[in-house]
Amino acid sequence: MPWDHLDTGIDKNWLKLDLQKALEAATVPDCSFEGCSRCGVCGTDFGHNVVVDALPIPEFAGEFVPNTERKQRFRVWFGKVGDMALVGHLDLLRLFDRVVRRADLPISFTGGFHPNPRISVANALPLGVTSIGEIADFELTESIDLADFREKLVATLPENIPVYRVEPIDLKAPSANQLLEAAEYLITVAATGSLAENGELERDNPAAVSVANNANWEAWVETIVQSSDFWRVHTTKSGKTQDVNLRDRLHKLELVEQSEATAVLRYAGSCRSDGNLLKPEHIVFMLEQISQQEIQLLQVQRTQLILGYC
Ligand code: SF4
Repeated sequence: MPWDHLDTGIDKNWLKLDLQKALEAATVPDCSFEGCSRCGVCGTDFGHNVVVDALPIPEFAGEFVPNTERKQRFRVWFGKVGDMALVGHLDLLRLFDRVVRRADLPISFTGGFHPNPRISVANALPLGVTSIGEIADFELTESIDLADFREKLVATLPENIPVYRVEPIDLKAPSANQLLEAAEYLITVAATGSLAENGELERDNPAAVSVANNANWEAWVETIVQSSDFWRVHTTKSGKTQDVNLRDRLHKLELVEQSEATAVLRYAGSCRSDGNLLKPEHIVFMLEQISQQEIQLLQVQRTQLILGYC
């Protein structure tokens, strides 16, 4: 077999016999609870199986009926730092789901066939990006003290999801996602050489970083700030294309620090749920247009989500 070079410890003849038994629909005992069928795994290399008594099958407690009451709502400002940058958005939602269960917080559920906890994150953070400015709304089935809520949440969350602030909000108030207007980022970028000279191979080569010695970050940033348009063709999910003026979406851009070919920039730009976004890649696009240099995005941190108020 193609995987014969891997030694799982299981005897090949046992596998053939097991296949035969499977085709005959014969039951092979589970060796965790019953007799050994001598598959070959146990021995000096892999140790011996520990047989335990099977746990009793619990009584059927009825279908889970989600509590859809909505009595209280908290808005939480939190971070996603360190290794948590490698946890995707859906996994973050699952993490919050488990955290409120462990903390025994009375979270409210949506109704319907697939009830979900009413935890609404303002905006998905791309994988690999850290943040110190995320926002999520939690709706509860009963009123509890804000300090209690915060204490239980902090005690159960991983340390790389720090909680900065918790505020009560009206049950009828728009969600953070609806109010979201803009986001602020710190990005680390590097100029890796002239666009005309560099081919795609050099763009993908990390060793190419810091080859550009004529980076003029201050002038490039100033030119972008002073410009009135940066057109880019945007392709929608349905495949339609439209010209977008990225400059309209840029609220602020400034140079924080620079060293040789790299620089740290702070920018604030649109971040709305209707798709009006200014991504860090868009700043790279503007810098490349102005500088005629290849620019690599080395690091991204979201520092703030900015809510509008109606
Ligand atoms: S007890 Fe060990 S050798 Fe026996 S069937 Fe289980 S894993 Fe295989």
